[in-house]
Amino acid sequence: MWIKKTDEEYLQYNKQKKRQRYDYKRPLLVAVGLWSVGILFAVIGHGTRYTGWHSGASINEVLSWLKVYFVPWFVLTFICLYLLQLMLGAIKLERSNTVICDKCFKPCAKGKSIYCQCGGNLESIERWNWVE
Ligand SMILES: [Zn+2]
Repeated sequence: MWIKKTDEEYLQYNKQKKRQRYDYKRPLLVAVGLWSVGILFAVIGHGTRYTGWHSGASINEVLSWLKVYFVPWFVLTFICLYLLQLMLGAIKLERSNTVICDKCFKPCAKGKSIYCQCGGNLESIERWNWVE
């Protein structure tokens, strides 16, 4: 059933959403994942004509190339992903478009009316918790 969040819970909910937006762990993980694949390809592709830039290069040359280029590109990737999260977070942080009736608990899209057909008040679904 639906239970209304207390003001304290709602405040916590908003804080948590804000924290998620500034959390660096997710973009860091994605950057690490992307670059793991990139490094894997660079090392596997080493000695083949497949990637071109190192044709005939020794594994040490490949590794030194990675040392020089990996760090700035990794940092750049992370910064881009982090900025993306900040921007997308702003969109996600906007109020949900779903409202719910405090009497019959029927959810619906936010419209012009703040009252449900049953006479109850329509409130943002973010103020409510679903409890089994
Ligand atoms: Zn209703």
